Amino acid sequence: MSTIFSKIVNKEIPANIVFESENVLAFKDIRPQAPVHILIIPKIEIPKVTDIKGNEHAKLLGEMFDCANKLANDLGIARNGFRLVFNCGNDGGQEVYHLHMHLLGGRHMQWPPG
Ligand code: AMP
Repeated sequence: MSTIFSKIVNKEIPANIVFESENVLAFKDIRPQAPVHILIIPKIEIPKVTDIKGNEHAKLLGEMFDCANKLANDLGIARNGFRLVFNCGNDGGQEVYHLHMHLLGGRHMQWPPG
């Protein structure tokens, strides 16, 4: 089922887009949890991590990580470090069922996460 993120991909609702390629879109999280908080998503609808198929999606996932590294460099957080998060399912705290990678940075992160 389509989510709000597909509407962002299709430009039906606005978002603060910071990167776009043929297969990947990145935009600022509407409720940022760090000075840098960007969501990196595939344009196709993959609901969650457990729907990823390595043989089918490996290139796409590589493009998402390339995007994260490019943005981390461009935004000046690569040197000090950052965190990449995929929440999966109810216990993982996933709210939007369109695969997304959180890129968080610009402050020191705690561990373990809440
Ligand atoms: P998750 O809990 O991993 O599913 O994360 C979903 C994230 O999407 C949350 O951090 C929300 O703040 C963010 N979010 C929800 N709607 C929007 C939107 N329209 N634009 C940007 N970020 C959004």
